Amino acid sequence: MTFLITAGPTREPIDPVRYISNRSSGKMGYAIAEAALDAGHEVILISGPVNLPPPRNAEFISVSTSDDMFEAVRKHADNSDICVLCAAVADYKPAKVSPAKIKKSVDEISIELVATRDILRSLGHQRVRRFVLVGFAAETDDLEANARKKLREKNCDIIVANDACVAMETDESELLVLFRDGETTKISHASKKFLARELVKIFSNAQQKSLTKKM
Ligand code: C5P
Repeated sequence: MTFLITAGPTREPIDPVRYISNRSSGKMGYAIAEAALDAGHEVILISGPVNLPPPRNAEFISVSTSDDMFEAVRKHADNSDICVLCAAVADYKPAKVSPAKIKKSVDEISIELVATRDILRSLGHQRVRRFVLVGFAAETDDLEANARKKLREKNCDIIVANDACVAMETDESELLVLFRDGETTKISHASKKFLARELVKIFSNAQQKSLTKKM
């Protein structure tokens, strides 16, 4: 099977030297890429800027902004069997990018922000899709309810939910896997490596099931 995986943060430029980003390390996405490769799958890894070496044997696409990531995902999604959108894509970007470095002058300035394109939602709502679509939800409160809402609104097959405070920048996490049919699986606290192997099994099974249904 071919896995398309997004990982890491995006960077939304303010001017030539500044940007808005977040603390995502990319560790979960990279661990899923490694686990999928180990299980004999093909992997296209679309990654924002992180401090991790790209997995050997993956097709690696390095991106910076949410728009770059959107284009790369749209280009490769239809040739994939499972799309795992694990990246912490910025929700907002500056409305205008200054072509020159913004000079320090007055005491207060403000930056107008506009919503970025939601990559997961756009795949979920595309008219025909043959791939299994997996999203992630990092929440600080009401984990299950918020994740379930995300699954419905973004129309994906699976949402992997975790506590943002536990998961960010660490090597460990604890996951709640929510399925479209209402089923839930909990994977208790473990290394991201272990969790990734479990997730790859879950995603492959979901893909097999969806194939059987279509036959
Ligand atoms: O809505 P929220 O950002 O919490 O949703 C998280 C999920 O949506 C993740 O799977 C993330 O990769 C995806 N996402 C996306 N494009 C965005 C924002 C989030 O693909 N612009």
